[in-house]
This record gives sequence, C-alpha cells and structure tokens, in this order.
Amino acid sequence: MTPDVRDRAGRPARVEAGQGDDCPIPATSWDRALHLIGQADEVALACHVTPDGDALGSMLAVAFVLRSMGKRVVASFGDRQFAVPRLLRFLPGQDMLVPPEAYPAAPELMIVFDSSTFERLGLLGTNAAMARELVVVDHHPSNAGFGTLSLIDAQAAATAMLAEQLVYRLGGRLDRDIATCLYAGLVTDTGSFRYSSTTPAVHQMAARLVATGLRTDEIARELWDRSPFGYLKVLAGALERVTLEHGPAGGLVWTYVTRVDRAAHGLPYSELEGLIDIVRRTDEAEVAVVLKEDDQGDWQVSTRSKGTVDVAAVCAALGGGGHHKAAGYTSHDTVEETMAKFRHELRKVS
Ligand code: AMP
Ligand code: MN
Ligand code: MN
Repeated sequence: MTPDVRDRAGRPARVEAGQGDDCPIPATSWDRALHLIGQADEVALACHVTPDGDALGSMLAVAFVLRSMGKRVVASFGDRQFAVPRLLRFLPGQDMLVPPEAYPAAPELMIVFDSSTFERLGLLGTNAAMARELVVVDHHPSNAGFGTLSLIDAQAAATAMLAEQLVYRLGGRLDRDIATCLYAGLVTDTGSFRYSSTTPAVHQMAARLVATGLRTDEIARELWDRSPFGYLKVLAGALERVTLEHGPAGGLVWTYVTRVDRAAHGLPYSELEGLIDIVRRTDEAEVAVVLKEDDQGDWQVSTRSKGTVDVAAVCAALGGGGHHKAAGYTSHDTVEETMAKFRHELRKVS
C-alpha cells in the first residue's frame, strides 16, 4: 500500500512509511483495526478535551481517509463548550466535526486519539463506555489501554505518527489536507522539532508530509506566531506575578491566569496554551507550572520539567498524567491550595 505522494513539482516522492521495526504495536493489532474498520458502516472518532494539534490533527487525518473509503464519519471532542481552539481553525476537515450532543450514544466502532484515559474524553467518555468496539490510538506512557483494542506506542513523539501508520495501512493517499493535519500533530508535540522526542523517524515523517506541498511557514505562523492583542495584556499580568521558589527539585517557577483576567481582555481559554513555554525558559527552575482557570472555574494545571523530575508522576498523583517532561491535571482547589498540594507531591519525587 504505497501512498501516492508528490513533491512540489508533482513528481512522485519516495516514501518510507512507518516507524520501522521497533514499533511495539503488533501486526495483529493493526490487522484487527483494519478488520473492524472494514466491517463498520459508521466510524465515530474522538480526541481529548480542549484538543491540541496532535489530538485534533491525528483525528482529522484519519477522518479524511475513512471518508474517502465511503464510511460515514463523525468526529468530536467532549468539551462542554464545544469550539475548535482559534489556533487550530486552519486545519482542514472541520466540516466532519459534530458537537458531543450530536455524537452517537453507543457507537458501533469508536476510535479515540491522544487520550490516555476515559476522563480525557470529557463528555464523550460515556459514549466510549457504550461503544461496541473502542480503539485507542495513543503515545502516552501512562496509557494502560482502556478500550477493546490498543494501538499504543509510548516511544512515538506524537499520536500523529500512529495516525500516519493507520492512513497508510488503510490504503489512504497522503494528500495535502491529510498531511497538514498530521504535520500539525508532529510539530505540536515535538515543540517544532526541538524536544528530545525528535528522532530521525520524526524528521523522515516530516519529509514525507512536506513533500505533499505543505506551507510549513503558514502552519508555524498559525500555531505559534499570532494571537489577539489581549494575549499580550494577559501575559503581562501573568508575568507580573510569576514566582520563583527554591526547593528540593532545584527551583520551581509558577504563575496563574484567572478567568477574570481573561474576561477583562476578551481572551478565550485556549489562547493560553503557549504561556507555559515562556515560563519554563527560567534557568533557575527545574520545574515550571501554569495554573489556567477555565470557563467552568476549574484550574487546568500545565507542568513542565527539564528532565530531572518526572512531572507525569507528580501529575498522576494529583489525578492527571502526561509525559516525563510535560504533564497536567485539573484542580478544583484555590491557587494556594493547588500549589501546596503540588509542592507536596513534588517533594516526594525529588
Ligand atoms: P498541556 O500542559 O496542557 O500542554 O499538557 C501537557 C501534557 O499533559 C498533555 O500532552 C497531556 O499528556 C497531559 N495532560 C494535560 N492535562 C491533563 C489532564 N487533565 N489529565 C491527564 N493528562 C493531562
Ligand atoms: Mn495532546
Ligand atoms: Mn500527543
């Protein structure tokens, strides 16, 4: 199943699909996925709440292929206020998205992307629990496999790498729309090829995607180089109260943004995604934390480490999860209580 990939001049590009021999997902699992998809008339896709580029991009890429195979496709994510984050609105295929209310209550076949637990599916967790077959496509080390079929590779830099595999195995043609979705996932989760997860396989995949004629400059601008003016004002407030503490973990830098701060500047919650990347620059801190109050009044806690501390372990102890150097959880406490509990768990792993 060689996908039809062309370079910018329209010449066939050489394609080496897949992650190589070290992919831990057995061939029987891929075969089972293809079988389930082959049998289904309708495929229901979902990704984690407040989707990032990897979650939404992986899901939409697979949605395109399933649609081209003549399947009925619904795709969604379980946010109470269903809206695609502004920075992902450039992704093609959004006509395939439906709000959680319009999602099948008990899907015949449901495939979920970039979600390590049922809880990460938000409102759609109920639908997933009712699905006859539930396929989990993910790369979180904490994912113990919660569906009827797991396609999990904890070594993969992004779920998009597994989504690309699925596209090829389904016989899909890697066109520019699919490549744009996959590329958004790949660059989001590798921090634009800067994180330690950036292997040769990541660059090889990027080469295949870029060969379809992607505008990598435009994608980068959409993802990282623009925001409403209000972001600068909210950022100023967050940086004004940023705190550096010295502790067992070798320095903790943290700040927070309330929903009142955002409302004052008309800033949606999803615009705060990049704030942690500014805070985590701090040389003096091993660990960075940003508390973001969402529209429901809960704190979404973003955490990062430079590598010594496993923030996934800290966040797992607080009800969340993630990766060694990037993890998160939800807190219903005050800022002070949230930070007190965080410091307490941090001390345990330091
Ligand atoms: P973020 O700080 O939102 O960019 O999230 C970093 C990583 O933490 C994500 O890739 C997820 O793997 C994980 N994560 C974030 N929030 C949660 C949560 N509430 N529950 C479990 N994992 C989370
Ligand atoms: Mn994600
Ligand atoms: Mn991911």
